[in-house]
Amino acid sequence: MRLTDSYDAYLVDLDGVVWRGEEPIAGAPEAITALRDMGKRVVFVTNNASRSPRDYAAKLMRLRIPTEPADIISSAHAVIEQLRAIGLKPGDRVHVCGTPALGQFVAAHRFVATGDTHDVKALVVAWNPQMVMDDIRRAADVARSGVPFIGANRDATYPTENGLLPGSGAIIAAIEVASAHTATIVGKPEPKLFRVALERAGAAPERTLVVGDRADSDAAGARAAGLAVALVLTGVTTERDLPLLPIRPDYILSSICEITSSSGEGALPASAEDEDQDHPGDEPADVREERSPGLFDLP
Ligand SMILES: [Mg+2]
Repeated sequence: MRLTDSYDAYLVDLDGVVWRGEEPIAGAPEAITALRDMGKRVVFVTNNASRSPRDYAAKLMRLRIPTEPADIISSAHAVIEQLRAIGLKPGDRVHVCGTPALGQFVAAHRFVATGDTHDVKALVVAWNPQMVMDDIRRAADVARSGVPFIGANRDATYPTENGLLPGSGAIIAAIEVASAHTATIVGKPEPKLFRVALERAGAAPERTLVVGDRADSDAAGARAAGLAVALVLTGVTTERDLPLLPIRPDYILSSICEITSSSGEGALPASAEDEDQDHPGDEPADVREERSPGLFDLP
């Protein structure tokens, strides 16, 4: 059975799944096109709040994946939801420690994004490859003042064509240590981002598959949102990591291309531990719902 028989909507991570830095993952544009040609809904879900949905759509277009900005959900969307959830109102000032694109996104949602440290109602921290020590100093000053401290995600690293860069989690950790205040994380592995994306996809949760490259954010977040997840090995997770995954995905794929491959043979909950447990590794996808929810959780 093919994965595409079991799922109508695909919530697809970007970094390490569709691209690595500025380079597309081999076959990813064709796989996305094939899914759409089959009438499947594809929404891109990224923990990376450093670019706007419009920037992401433009990058996807450059990689031959025409996409509307509305089909891209980033942790910036979850940041906005959180600012509203904690009671901030239009016009309230928010210290943004991140890229100019994140500041513009916050401003577009009628908050005042600022680098000032005084008279702000919240602190937002996200990945920024241009970040300098002074950014961390000012963010720590704001955190120390006791206002709500919102972090995009705790991804330790960011995969590029030149290797792994320190990620949003590394930046947030620096500010937490410097301020002795802890961030509230809104991106993956929290379920909020997937819930926003699921609503955007307009699909039933049981017919939706998350596709990501990180067990600690994509797989954990999918599990928290009650969604099935396929882990691909084109990004952060490698074959060597599989025995030690903190969350067991429903499927392990060499790349996103395997979703639309003719046989789907690689679309198995493959890991060494599976062989030792009481369920076969080649179980068809539609049997998954009959398993106990915690079956794939490692002890
Ligand atoms: Mg990723």
